[in-house]
Amino acid sequence: MSDSSISVLPFIHAIKDTINSHADEIAHLDQAIGDGDHLINLQRGIDALLKNRDELEQLDFSAALSKIGLTLMSTMGGASGSLFGSMFVTMGKTAKEKPVALESISEIFTAGVESIKARGKADIGEKTMLDTLIPASTSLQESMTHEAELSIALESMKQAAIEGMESTEDMLATKGRASFLGERARGHIDAGARTSQLMLCAIADVILENG
Ligand code: ADP
Ligand code: MG
Repeated sequence: MSDSSISVLPFIHAIKDTINSHADEIAHLDQAIGDGDHLINLQRGIDALLKNRDELEQLDFSAALSKIGLTLMSTMGGASGSLFGSMFVTMGKTAKEKPVALESISEIFTAGVESIKARGKADIGEKTMLDTLIPASTSLQESMTHEAELSIALESMKQAAIEGMESTEDMLATKGRASFLGERARGHIDAGARTSQLMLCAIADVILENG
């Protein structure tokens, strides 16, 4: 399989479906400890990507990732728009000239997560999307080291993302809007951690269903 044979559109559709089917939950999470716009920001970004579907379909994998990043940066809004935007631009750069194998997917994803850490000046344990993304990328790296089968690697990654998302519930927030709430943020899952987990699980399921 060459890079150019990967279409990003099935992934975007799967992400749209999972976000829409969890819409009320996502809105409530950001209302509880944020400003309530995370769902709308995501939906705006996804709609902008689907408006560009014909162009995305023509681009090779790395160029499509970069285009997704630039589109999210210019349309999505919110902290998450610039963070996800920067993640995809970085993944696009990293994906250039790489074969489609677990090794490169893991490398591309890890580079994207690192760019969120740098842009958001945040790390694991601060009650953000990184509490989902970092364990998921670590899990993929470990699977690669152990030469795990793709299906096992993806199931482990999904599990790591779910556990990471759940771990935000008891955390205090030290980044993002929830950091203004102190102890009141405890007892709520972070919205970006939940949507990142839903998106990663949707992406993994598309790959698992298509062998
Ligand atoms: P905003 O916070 O500007 O309203 P969103 O509601 O779209 O933007 O996104 C909020 C999510 O962004 C949070 O739930 C959190 O996961 C993530 N986030 C916010 N600030 C940071 C940061 N500095 N680093 C990583 N993720 C962050
Ligand atoms: Mg918000």
